[in-house]
Amino acid sequence: MSSQSDSPSIFSRIVAREIPATIVAETDTVIAFDDIAPKAPVHVLVVPKTERYRDVVELAAADPALLAEVVAMAARIADQRAGGEFRLVFNTGEAAGQTVFHVHAHVLAGDLREGTLADA
Ligand code: AMP
Repeated sequence: MSSQSDSPSIFSRIVAREIPATIVAETDTVIAFDDIAPKAPVHVLVVPKTERYRDVVELAAADPALLAEVVAMAARIADQRAGGEFRLVFNTGEAAGQTVFHVHAHVLAGDLREGTLADA
């Protein structure tokens, strides 16, 4: 999968329309698209357009308003697609399963009560 040194990141290439994705929402600063390998009935990635921040810890420290935009977009997507209830996952670090080091939120929704999302 992606390494930490990939630049531009795969998500920046989606922002630039260099590689295809099913984009479901976009603002000046944040983009959302369907995960290519969904782990839930709804599995959308919400991504700051800047790749300056590798994970949510860096994002929260440097630009909490942008993190709040990510959360707000996640909530809007869950409203539209899953009745407003959702799980928000930020894998942080390789051992936690992070493979793309351009911060992103996994929005997981649908009926998640029976499943495990450990590998989301
Ligand atoms: P993480 O493992 O938390 O870094 O999440 C990376 C996610 O990006 C995984 O769930 C992948 O399925 C997803 N992904 C990788 N490439 C693409 C792509 N081209 N379009 C959409 N999702 C992707």
